[in-house]
Amino acid sequence: MSEEYQSPVTLAELARMLMKLDDLLITCMRCGFCQSVCPVYGETFREADVTRGKIALLEDLAHELTLDADNVNDRLNRCLLCGSCESNCPSGVKIMDIFIRARAIVAGYRGLGAIKKLIFRTVLPRPRLFNFMIGVSSAFQWPFLRRASEKIGTSRAPILNPVLGHRHIPSLPSKTFSAAHGQIAEPGTNGQVALFPGCVPDKIFTQMSEASLKILKHHKVGVFMPDNLVCCGIPSLASGDIKSFIKLTSQNLAALAAKPFDYLVTPCATCGSNIKENWYRFIDRFSPAERTLIEQLHTKTLDITAYLVRVLKVDFKPVTNGTLAVTYHDPCHLKKGLGISAEPRAILKSLPGYKFVEMPEADRCCGNGGSFNLFHYDLSKSIGQVKRDNIVSVKPKIVATTCPACTLQLMDLLSQNKDEIEVKHVAELYAETL
Ligand code: SF4
Ligand code: SF4
Repeated sequence: MSEEYQSPVTLAELARMLMKLDDLLITCMRCGFCQSVCPVYGETFREADVTRGKIALLEDLAHELTLDADNVNDRLNRCLLCGSCESNCPSGVKIMDIFIRARAIVAGYRGLGAIKKLIFRTVLPRPRLFNFMIGVSSAFQWPFLRRASEKIGTSRAPILNPVLGHRHIPSLPSKTFSAAHGQIAEPGTNGQVALFPGCVPDKIFTQMSEASLKILKHHKVGVFMPDNLVCCGIPSLASGDIKSFIKLTSQNLAALAAKPFDYLVTPCATCGSNIKENWYRFIDRFSPAERTLIEQLHTKTLDITAYLVRVLKVDFKPVTNGTLAVTYHDPCHLKKGLGISAEPRAILKSLPGYKFVEMPEADRCCGNGGSFNLFHYDLSKSIGQVKRDNIVSVKPKIVATTCPACTLQLMDLLSQNKDEIEVKHVAELYAETL
């Protein structure tokens, strides 16, 4: 890790970040095309919530911070980082780059809250501690949980409502994927990948990681998963905690450097997009050896569905006689972030017994947005309700997706609406056929 990021953010560094931000802001033409696609603006109709309004705020960021840093922080955080605005911007404004850098400046100026500091700097960098905490929580969860939907696999936790806000949640597994497997070093004759499960498929939806491993082994791919991988860093980065983001990334790079691989494969759209784009975005903050690996990962990181279709060239032949209706939700980080949308559909259309049905606005954001869901739950839910209505309109038995954060949101939405529709990762459905 570079020396620079072992110290707190300095004034000189803040000034440098502000200058870099200014360079990015001047490309905005104020056309307002970003309005029509912004899920937050679609609910609130507030100019302050849409990209153009946020850019107006950022143009005088240094001054605004001295006036009311908390207000700046609140306004910036009313955003899902879904990328819908960027993919619809005719001027090619690097909006995600702007928002991420702006959040880092704001966090550098006003500091981080104690809970975020504890999570980002004490729990996330320690995989064994994190696994231990999940194990303990899993053992003691049942007295707190009340089944909400057998079909969807959700529960309510009434006693925790002040914290969970009436969410319908999945239960925790007794063991995380990484605790169950330790280091994985499966030999293979069909290429070599590093498997990066990501926190949620490792610690909550372990079936996504198990399915990915099963698929890779079925296709005789060599699989390497170090036992000291940590969070990809996106929660820290989205909160502006560059220091933790750099530290977590460095830890992952050291773990991944232990063995050569052709591709990094993940079942998590958000991790994939973060590793490919954000690790690379901040490449100048790393050591020369780390930069070499980050450059490789920029071109060699793929979500599991794209790996199967693009690299292994698995021949997914469409089936036409299936009856079990399955639809697909495009995670923003996969479609708008990485341009992957045909591959998961190709897999779903090939599954024996299933009939693929396209929902309206399949790539409309589900409203999760990571910490956005935590801090703006009502808004997250009302954005998600449109997604829920679109899912229900095509009467599927299953809604498939490729992002664990979207899965959490879809399970909550469908369960609260008493819809008997399962939510599964595309990899799970494919693995079931092998
Ligand atoms: S669409 Fe792009 S150029 Fe137009 S206002 Fe939004 S960010 Fe600026
Ligand atoms: S990233 Fe999404 S939520 Fe944020 S301003 Fe852009 S469109 Fe709106």
